[in-house]
Amino acid sequence: MRPIPHPLSHAYLITGGREDSRLDYARQLTAAYLCQGAHPPCGVCLPCRKVAEGIHPDVIWVGVPKGKREITVDQARTLRSDAYIRPNEGVRKVYIIHPADSMNQVAQNALLKVLEEGPDYAAFLLVAEHPGRLLDTIRSRCEQLALPPQQAEADPQQVEQAAQLCRLLLTGSELEVAEGMAALERQKLKGGELLELLAVAERQVSSQLAHHPQRGVRVLRALRACRESSVYNPSPVGLMGQLCAQIFGN
Ligand SMILES: [Zn+2]
Repeated sequence: MRPIPHPLSHAYLITGGREDSRLDYARQLTAAYLCQGAHPPCGVCLPCRKVAEGIHPDVIWVGVPKGKREITVDQARTLRSDAYIRPNEGVRKVYIIHPADSMNQVAQNALLKVLEEGPDYAAFLLVAEHPGRLLDTIRSRCEQLALPPQQAEADPQQVEQAAQLCRLLLTGSELEVAEGMAALERQKLKGGELLELLAVAERQVSSQLAHHPQRGVRVLRALRACRESSVYNPSPVGLMGQLCAQIFGN
């Protein structure tokens, strides 16, 4: 993750990367504005936890309303007047505008003034895939934070870990695989990280199918089933058990 700037500016335009990484980064920045710990965002203080759970009353998300295609001028005006109401409990009030590039020009113009001379406690995070759709005047009032490109090089450590996992799944005994899965669980990878690892392993297994025709197909099927069921159940514990059962079950 890109480091959090210090000191924080009052407005950022977050671009680049994938949508989920832009949103993750916006949440991190939001926590940094509101954090009461020594090293914001500490991730453990009450405001940080409230931001992570999406229940902090001073975090305001502005997005495209249901059934509409853009963020409207009315929303921008509401934001503008809301910004002059002091925060409920935090030291700042943070507005996350996502996707900011879906504001039409009138809405952008309505936002300009508050971006430039809003109250000190107000902070604005504009999250945009296509920053070119924003007015120059909007862009120039924000500090730009570009995340690394979408298809970033895979982390070499992750590739190595995936290679080990791939070898284990293709050649290990049932006991060895079970032990390997238990070791993975102990690493406490988050749902997303684990899935990424499994996705890299899946690609490696497919490239080695010729060497392990029968077992390879089984492993591949198991990895795919895991990926599909993880949409509903992202818990690593469940996934690992399922993977083992699929490879060695009947
Ligand atoms: Zn904190």
